[in-house]
Amino acid sequence: MKKKLLAGLIALSLATLMPQASHVLLAEDFGANEDYYWNLCSKSTEDPQVSATCKSFSNYLSEKSNQLKNQVDNMNQDIDSIRNNIDMVQKEINSQQKIIDNLNAMIEKNNETIQRIQGVIEQLKEDIKQTESDIEKRDKQIKDRMRSEQVSIGTNVYIEFMMGAKDLVDMVRIADGIERITENDQDEIKALEADKEKLNQQKSEQDRLMDDQEKARQRNVENKAVAEKAKAEQEKLQVEWRKQEADLLEKIRSANAANSAVQSQIAVLKNVHYQQSDGWIHPVPGMTYVSAGTWAYPGGGTHLGMDFAAGVGTPIRAPIGGVILYANNPAPTYGGYLGNWVGHPAGGGNTVQLVGTVKGTTYAVSFFHMAQENFAASPGAGVAQGTYLGGVGHSGNSTGAHLHLEIINLGDMSVDEAIDRFRANGADFAWGTGWNSTATSCGVKGYAPCRERPEDFIGY
Ligand SMILES: [Zn+2]
Repeated sequence: MKKKLLAGLIALSLATLMPQASHVLLAEDFGANEDYYWNLCSKSTEDPQVSATCKSFSNYLSEKSNQLKNQVDNMNQDIDSIRNNIDMVQKEINSQQKIIDNLNAMIEKNNETIQRIQGVIEQLKEDIKQTESDIEKRDKQIKDRMRSEQVSIGTNVYIEFMMGAKDLVDMVRIADGIERITENDQDEIKALEADKEKLNQQKSEQDRLMDDQEKARQRNVENKAVAEKAKAEQEKLQVEWRKQEADLLEKIRSANAANSAVQSQIAVLKNVHYQQSDGWIHPVPGMTYVSAGTWAYPGGGTHLGMDFAAGVGTPIRAPIGGVILYANNPAPTYGGYLGNWVGHPAGGGNTVQLVGTVKGTTYAVSFFHMAQENFAASPGAGVAQGTYLGGVGHSGNSTGAHLHLEIINLGDMSVDEAIDRFRANGADFAWGTGWNSTATSCGVKGYAPCRERPEDFIGY
């Protein structure tokens, strides 16, 4: 059900592109019944009606192929813009990463500084402790000395002996002794106290530095978190873009696969259905004039074909649809002269032979003296009427740029049979009619294979 609906949609979209009303109906028909038409058209048929339908089916497939190709082109453009986005996001990720790296380095430095200050502070703490202990020791020494001096003075308690002086002289002696003690020793204590104060100041300066470092570190850690968040967001975006890229690549792969399947279908249909034509078209529409007719050259002598003079490179088109039996371009485009026997048949230069059917009669058509460059014919290929085969040249046994065209009537021989016989007879372009006589012309001989006068088919 779903599949049918899809096919209908494709048919509808194709129908809108079809230039002619009659094709709209056919296109819708083809889209909904591809399998049916493929089964009908991939086999050989003698029915011209079926063949015509199958040519339309082939056109439908070409249109489908173009659509797939356009889809691929569009998706490739989308992928380009997605890849631009991925690049842009990548740049953003890189710059955030750079910021993070810088902040990491700064935090590392903060940590080192903090550790160093920590060491200094520890040292200062120890120094302070040492100084405190020195002060205490000195204090104790003084007190001990005072005590012992008090003992030598004869009193136990300082205040007691001050107050308990026997007389004024004794008191002055005592007071002198106290002053002497305090002058020396208390200076020392004061110096120690000053040291301690200095150390404390140093420590509080270090504490302040430590505080600054910790604040700086905190700021760096916060900034790093911001950068990491921004980076994570960009990475999330990039994952999304990459997913879209992968989806598109898969769609492109699948459209390309579908297109090559359609292309091979078209190739098969060309081989099967371009073999029949309703009439002949001109092989060199861009010719300047007919330089020699059949069966004689203007100056005398047998001429088995028709010569179309045209500039080198003038396009040569298949005058009927068919299958290429032979195609080879070994000769230089401008290499022609009388008696130059390069090519097959000898003297043909760059040559092609095509076999196809017109209104039920099969014909072999030969093209001689073609250009070496832009040679588009390849053996075994099915070609539609009007297909470009190559350019006019001046190769082989030729006196100037022209196309020499010959037509052999093969009667009711099928194209498949013609292909087999051509192979079996060593690619005989003349089909047994020879190269010297008009006795094998259809007019004289009367039955196939016989040589036709191209003038009878090609208007000029
Ligand atoms: Zn000729």
